[in-house]
Amino acid sequence: MASRVRPSPINTMNTHIIPVRFEYFAPKTLNEAVDLLSRFRGRAKVLAGGTDLVVQMKVGRVRPEYVVSIRWLRELDFIDTREDGLHIGALTKLRRIEKSDVIRRGFIALYEAAKAMGGVQVRCMGTVGGNLCNASPAADTAPPLMVYEARVKAVSTRGEREIPITKFFKGPGKSALEPDEILTEVMIPYQPANTGSAFLKVARTSMDLAKVNVAAAINVREGVVRWARIALGAVAPTPIRALKAEAYLAGKELGEDVIARAAEIAASETRPITDVRSTAWYRREVSKVLVKDALRIAYGRAVRG
Ligand SMILES: Cc1cc2nc3c(=O)[nH]c(=O)nc-3n(C[C@H](O)[C@H](O)[C@H](O)COP(=O)(O)OP(=O)(O)OC[C@H]3O[C@@H](n4cnc5c(N)ncnc54)[C@H](O)[C@@H]3O)c2cc1C
Repeated sequence: MASRVRPSPINTMNTHIIPVRFEYFAPKTLNEAVDLLSRFRGRAKVLAGGTDLVVQMKVGRVRPEYVVSIRWLRELDFIDTREDGLHIGALTKLRRIEKSDVIRRGFIALYEAAKAMGGVQVRCMGTVGGNLCNASPAADTAPPLMVYEARVKAVSTRGEREIPITKFFKGPGKSALEPDEILTEVMIPYQPANTGSAFLKVARTSMDLAKVNVAAAINVREGVVRWARIALGAVAPTPIRALKAEAYLAGKELGEDVIARAAEIAASETRPITDVRSTAWYRREVSKVLVKDALRIAYGRAVRG
């Protein structure tokens, strides 16, 4: 049975912690959790680490009638190497990703992204699933997962389905998940030999969301780029792949002129806005710099093996 806690009436005389009334559920199994989401379809929010959701509830931007905490579902907290690739449970903390040797050795851009997120306290609470489901255009785990062509698994009472990460983000705060679905895991295929990758981020402070973040992955044979993947965040309504720049790079030797041209093309694929964190102009200019640097680092790693 899910435990059900009725909150006491909101204290209107004192500082509001969370100024919305909601019912809290702490299901013990995934089945219970999806049953609750199905029952409260559209009126419930999933709570993982709470580092995004609770902030949004405090400022009243999100006002769920029901909160379904999945934090006790230990079955969603894992990093497993399987035949078809690396599987990461949605409830895996960013700190665990940062500390994983398997991820640092095999998927270094994801390690670099996790390490660059918030402070240690946030990384000890925040989860990879929460970062993706929050669907911020600046989500730091999105660009590495996009260049690794990861897939995510979503589960509901109707069954389960896989979604390529490149199709997961639909707009600021909007993902491909239905309101009754829980994201349960991220699956990353092993990258072929002679592949290098990198993640870079520019932010106002080390604790902040990105002004721009970039991941690149390159596969090289005899000095020639077989394929390159570039993903950028905070420069469009969703994280994006720079597909034209990727197509330009395929089959080329990666000299400085080629890197510069690819960065120009990638920047032309962005649609940045001006907001509290940055101007559109700055974001586009920094995109070029980060793409150049990420390509150089990823190439170096691909060649050194
Ligand atoms: C001080 C501070 C600094 C931060 N810095 C960064 C940063 O540098 N980079 C960055 O990208 N983010 C940053 N964040 C944002 C946040 O910490 C991350 O996005 C984190 O990964 C969110 O995970 P969570 O488990 O806390 O998500 P929650 O807050 O629990 O959930 C976030 C959203 O996803 C939904 N959700 C969560 N898990 C699931 C699931 N499994 N299935 C379906 N829906 C789900 C929730 O309903 C909610 O809408 C920062 C936040 C703070 C407070």
